[in-house]
Amino acid sequence: MKISIVGAGISGLSTYIFLRKHLPSPPAPLPPHEFVIYDAYPAPSRKEREAGSTSIIGGGLGIAPNGKRMVRALSREIHQAVVSQGYGVVRFQFNSARGWTIGSVPIVDLKGEPELMVMSSRQGMWECISGPPPFRDEVSDEVLVRKKVVRVVRSVTGKPVLRFEDGGEEQFDLVIGADGIKSVVKEAIVGDKYPAIYTGFYSVGGFVPSELLPQLPENNAELLPPKSQVVMTFGPGGFFGYGPFCAAPSSVCCKDPVIQHLIRESEIKLKIATWVTPKLPTWASNGVVLVGDAAHALPSSSRQGASGALEDAYAITFLLKHFLSLAYDSGSTSMSEEEAVQIASEKYCAIRKPHVEAILDGAMKLEMRRDKAGIVAEYAMYFIMWIKCKFFPGYMNRPIYQYSVEAEIEKAIHSVK
Ligand SMILES: Cc1cc2nc3c(=O)[nH]c(=O)nc-3n(C[C@H](O)[C@H](O)[C@H](O)COP(=O)(O)OP(=O)(O)OC[C@H]3O[C@@H](n4cnc5c(N)ncnc54)[C@H](O)[C@@H]3O)c2cc1C
Repeated sequence: MKISIVGAGISGLSTYIFLRKHLPSPPAPLPPHEFVIYDAYPAPSRKEREAGSTSIIGGGLGIAPNGKRMVRALSREIHQAVVSQGYGVVRFQFNSARGWTIGSVPIVDLKGEPELMVMSSRQGMWECISGPPPFRDEVSDEVLVRKKVVRVVRSVTGKPVLRFEDGGEEQFDLVIGADGIKSVVKEAIVGDKYPAIYTGFYSVGGFVPSELLPQLPENNAELLPPKSQVVMTFGPGGFFGYGPFCAAPSSVCCKDPVIQHLIRESEIKLKIATWVTPKLPTWASNGVVLVGDAAHALPSSSRQGASGALEDAYAITFLLKHFLSLAYDSGSTSMSEEEAVQIASEKYCAIRKPHVEAILDGAMKLEMRRDKAGIVAEYAMYFIMWIKCKFFPGYMNRPIYQYSVEAEIEKAIHSVK
């Protein structure tokens, strides 16, 4: 099959690595699979990478325990690289804008091989998958082509055809749309009726060297240390989060006055309007499949953008692996490659859509509450967060962190008649 991945972000590159490693080879006389990744923009220059947190390379993100398991599945080396360049955290603390601590929740999954959440710069995470040595050997320069896709159309036989900004076009058997929130591939599946929705919020952010943070005053009983290195302060107009993002150990005690200090000391270069993808009727159709933000950009408060993208990459790969193996083993008599792709895509949507949409619903409730933001709504938000932290601290994240995409794939495979 000729397989194209549009977008070389975290979802596109991880899908490529999974597919290349796990797709079964077609039997002769079928030709081997061919892969190409297209990305509209050049990789950030050294200067851009060194500029810290910007709208070109992004700011910080968390790779939750469920995402970490997917990184481990990509390769042990990538997992090791992600862990070493990021910062593992075990709890998130929630504060209110009124100055008190609401509570805290664990962000570690102790089932099986324990995985902590890792806070990382987006660029750091991306470089572990794609970037320069010593991290990678996974994505060769030949496979990643810097070209902008402007449309996906159909050939007379119904196969997806990519149209490029330079006027060229090329036909594929399978197109993976990993082209982010403003996906053009999405339009080949659902038309133009589902544009991304602006949440009304802007993300701003930056990184501050730990030596510039205020030190914990000695014997200061008034300033109680937080229960976690990552502190999220929620208020009527948004939230402010801070925490360590790289492996350098910090002797600094994070406290609420840190917020004022960070705002004062930081040069904010990252300013991104935050968008979400509306619920789409489907994520796949006739050889075109969406993964990551193209299918479901989530609000940042969900902390599942990167982790959900990695789960998508894993799910579509292992479903394709199973159904293509059936097609190849049957000698193409009972199932063609095209039919295998179709069944795998349907199963993929059935597994992933309800799970991700439940996360979207939960995160949007919080966004809407902030948006209305009268004093009653504000205190109601704190109260609900307090109840969750106090009585269901583990449960808050358990359905997400312990979600097993592997088990869902197994179930989906065995539900086929
Ligand atoms: C510049 C940037 C900064 C970000 N910063 C943060 C952040 O600070 N914190 C956070 O939590 N999340 C951030 N995100 C989002 C986060 O990366 C994603 O939620 C998550 O990693 C899943 O990503 P993805 O690979 O699905 O999409 P993305 O990371 O958006 O990657 C999509 C890729 O597709 C390429 N592309 C888009 N359109 C086309 C086209 N027409 N043709 C070819 N290629 C195309 C883009 O260049 C990009 O490389 C950022 C995303 C971007 C693009």
